[in-house]
Amino acid sequence: MLRIDDLYKSYGDEEVLKGIDLEIDRGDVEVLVGPSGSGKSTLLRCCNRLTEVDSGDIYLGDLEVTAPDTDPDEVRQQIGMVFQDINLFAHLTARKNVTLGLRKVKGLPKAEARQRADAELERVGLADQADSYPAQLSGGQKQRVGIARALAMDPKVMLFDEPTSALDPELSNEVLEVMRGLVAEGMTMVVVTHEMRFARGGATNISFLADGQLVERGPPERLFENPTHDRTAEFFESIR
Ligand code: ADP
Ligand code: MG
Repeated sequence: MLRIDDLYKSYGDEEVLKGIDLEIDRGDVEVLVGPSGSGKSTLLRCCNRLTEVDSGDIYLGDLEVTAPDTDPDEVRQQIGMVFQDINLFAHLTARKNVTLGLRKVKGLPKAEARQRADAELERVGLADQADSYPAQLSGGQKQRVGIARALAMDPKVMLFDEPTSALDPELSNEVLEVMRGLVAEGMTMVVVTHEMRFARGGATNISFLADGQLVERGPPERLFENPTHDRTAEFFESIR
């Protein structure tokens, strides 16, 4: 479903991604972990063309994401992304935040967009907050609106970049519950998170990144219990 081939990315003199290879099957959940600055966000951003790669390829099915003539907007419809910073439009209700892309990008008529938005808000447990403005919502609710907005585009893959890092534990849980629901539905997901309980329960594989390289990858049990590399073991020790 998502294939990353020998990906390189530098910012100035700093090599941030140094030959990343990763293949994620349909319905799989890849959890990306690693120290701050290891390149996790950059990797996700390359996958939906928020950042341009220096070399290497990314494919989403048959779509060559990184090809110069591939439209980034097309990529972003098919690969949804949820960030740590909750970036809703403050002057729009939850429903309007979700319908915006449906109207502008998908070209849906108003009534249909509204219906779709309400269905997505219900999917994230916010049916009763459709008319609320972001300022009236908790951090967890805002993040769930962000998820609904991404889901509304009917993406093939969802990327999550530390979606709960800015939230209190209680609010983190409601977001993680929505993500677990997506896992259960069979959504293909790449999730950067330090929530190891989520990783243990939901990940097909965990990838450990350090210094722009994929140091080690495997199913959660193996990586937690029996890491091959010292760096992986040290990392899991440090976040325990
Ligand atoms: P992580 O998400 O694992 O913490 P990032 O991908 O955010 O890592 O960053 C990896 C490295 O790239 C860091 O050293 C960071 O400072 C650098 N970096 C990230 N984005 C930019 C940017 N837009 N311009 C310059 N350097 C950047
Ligand atoms: Mg990051």
